[in-house]
Order: sequence, then C-alpha cells, then structure tokens
Amino acid sequence: MNLYNDEIFSLAPSRSMEFIAKAKLMQKSDPSVISLAGGEPDFATPSPICEEAVKWLRAGYTHYTICPGLPELRVGIAEKLKRDNNCNYDPDGIIVAPGGKFAIYLAIRSLVNKGDEVMYLEPGWVSYPAIIQASGATPVPVRLSQVDSFKLTREKLESAVTPNTKILIVNYPNNPTGKCLSQGELDDLVAFLEAHPQVLLMSDEIYERIVFTGSSNLSPASIPQIASRVITINGFSKATAMTGWRCGYLATTPEIAKVIYRLYQHTISCVSGFIQKAAVVALGCTEEIEQMRKRFEARRDLFINGMNSIPGVSAEMPEGAFYAWVKFDWNSMNSEEVCNLILEKARVVGVPGIAYGTDEPYVRFSFAESDEILAETVRRIKEVSPVK
Ligand code: GLU
Repeated sequence: MNLYNDEIFSLAPSRSMEFIAKAKLMQKSDPSVISLAGGEPDFATPSPICEEAVKWLRAGYTHYTICPGLPELRVGIAEKLKRDNNCNYDPDGIIVAPGGKFAIYLAIRSLVNKGDEVMYLEPGWVSYPAIIQASGATPVPVRLSQVDSFKLTREKLESAVTPNTKILIVNYPNNPTGKCLSQGELDDLVAFLEAHPQVLLMSDEIYERIVFTGSSNLSPASIPQIASRVITINGFSKATAMTGWRCGYLATTPEIAKVIYRLYQHTISCVSGFIQKAAVVALGCTEEIEQMRKRFEARRDLFINGMNSIPGVSAEMPEGAFYAWVKFDWNSMNSEEVCNLILEKARVVGVPGIAYGTDEPYVRFSFAESDEILAETVRRIKEVSPVK
C-alpha cells in the first residue's frame, strides 16, 4: 500500500507560492531584494471594508454561518454579475468560498470522475493542472502561441477535445499573458461549446475589474445559448486588494451548486461571517476599485515601456490583470536561467515562464508595486543584461 495518495504526492509545488516564499525569505536578510513574483496588489484593503469586518467582529459575529454564503452576499454577487457582466445567475447558484482558488477546486472536484479530461489554456496559471490532477482527472493543455499573440481559436480547441472532455477552463483577463477575451474568440468559444454539448466551461474572471482596453471584460455566461453550462469564478482578492482575507465565489446553476455544497459541507463548513459581511461592502466599493485600476494602468505603461528599452527584452502591453509577460532573448538562456541571473545579479524575483507551461524564455513579473520599485527593477535588469 502506498504511504500517500498518488495524485497528491505527484503534484508539482505551486511555483508562484514557492517564489513568493523565496522572495520573502531573501528580503529578511537583504531588504533591497525586489519581489515581483506574487500576484497581489500592494494597496491596503479599502477602509470601509475593514471597518465593516471590525464592526461584526466586535459584535461577536464569529460563529459558523452554516450556508454556502450569507444570503445578502449571494444576492449581492448575483446583482453584481448582472450589472457588471450581464450574466443572469440565481443567488441559489452562488457559492462563497475561501478564495477563488478553492472555488475552482470545489467545482472541479465535484464534477469530474476518473478518466475525465479537463482542458485549460497554456501558458496558464500554475494551479489549474494541479487542481485537475488532485481531483483525479487528466489535465489537457490547449497550447496558445506567441506567434499569433496567444489567440484562442476554434481550431486549437478542437485539437485538444476528446469524447472524455468534461470541462474547459478559460481565464480572461489572462494570468500570465494579460490578454482579454476578444469578441472573435468568444464567438469561437460559443461555437466550440455548441459542437460539444458534454463540455462545461469554467470561466475564471478573477481579474475582470482590472482591464485597460476601455471596454468591459466579456463574460461567456452572458451568452444565453451557453449560459447554463458556464461556471463563473471570481472573488475579492485582486479587485479590492483582499488577497489575505480569502474570499471568492463561483456561480453556476442551483442544481450544480447543490452537488458542490455536499463537498463544501464536509470540508470548509463555511466562510467566516465577518469576512462575508465585509465582502458585501466590497461589492459597493466601485470608486476605490476604479482608483486602483487607474494606478495599475499607469504602472503598466511605466513598466512595459521600461522593459522594452532593455536590449534583448520585449513585452506586449497587457490588456488586463497586473502581469507583465516578458520575453528575454538573452543568448539562448531559458526562463529559469534568466530568473537565476536577475535574482543573483539584480536581486529581482520574477517567475520563470516554464512554470506556466511554456518553453520560450518568458518571465512573469507582477506590476502591482509602486512606481519607484518598478523603475528600480527596470534600471537593475538593464544593468545586468548580457545583451548590449
Ligand atoms: N494568483 C496569484 C499569482 O498567480 C497568487 C498566487 C497563486 O495563487 O498562485 O501569483
């Protein structure tokens, strides 16, 4: 008998978590180390949200809530999804989880069986394949390429689908490429789903409030002919700078939500009541969200223009999220070699592209940091560039 569960034992560590931890450790002995590894806004959580949490804590609202989310929060989320994303979800189909990541796990774990395949985009966030694997299913990457700016096409989806495909995960605005879903890509996605009625779509929209295109994020669940097959993932971490609070959600049909709640009851029981009360207030913080979005946009311009001024370095302007997906044509070095060099010589921490499934020499940097730190990063990397 094996000592450990095979699926869990063979999981690769989360490279983003690994690099965030490594950078924090290095900063203890050398505070000049710059960490652009983790995707986490440097802004404080807006004070009305903190005040609300403290109010409920003081009032003793510290016990089990015994529900998939407080009714007022589930109704608020359904209203938000209608208002901002044009999606019609019943509050009974909303489940509040400790972070978007756990909402993804709950949904996938509740839906797949052994032998099922789950497609996800590559380059893509580090945890999708791990969560699929931990749920006993098989991760199947849909490879997008820099040659056509990481465009999602029907052809690419068709090349990865099989009769065993159960779920397709998409993530827009995208981590790490910064791409938003275009109307043409959404049309292809809809046509693909119509041709494969057994496939559910998971749309991870955790960065949907951080968009720089001048128009809103497109949500697949706004398309009536596929809406009932779309599980939308979102949360409070990125838009309202609440990463450490752990509060996210999924939206689906009440039937699917009922099944997911079975696993929920046996694992997390509930999300802290005072955090959920604060999340209700976060839904109304539109002005604060817009202020942060504007700051991210200015930082994006500063950082991407700076990186493009370094010999052998190139990056496209991200359309959303707060990641720079930067290519280093540095004497055929691979992404880990580039990361090691800039870590050792420039004391800057980024995450190597290989963590997101690409063999190309990309490094992902989070630009959710101050102008000074971003300008200093560019200066240091320029200084150590082996290409002059
Ligand atoms: N999602 C963020 C990132 O990609 C936080 C870390 C994680 O969840 O992997 O950096």
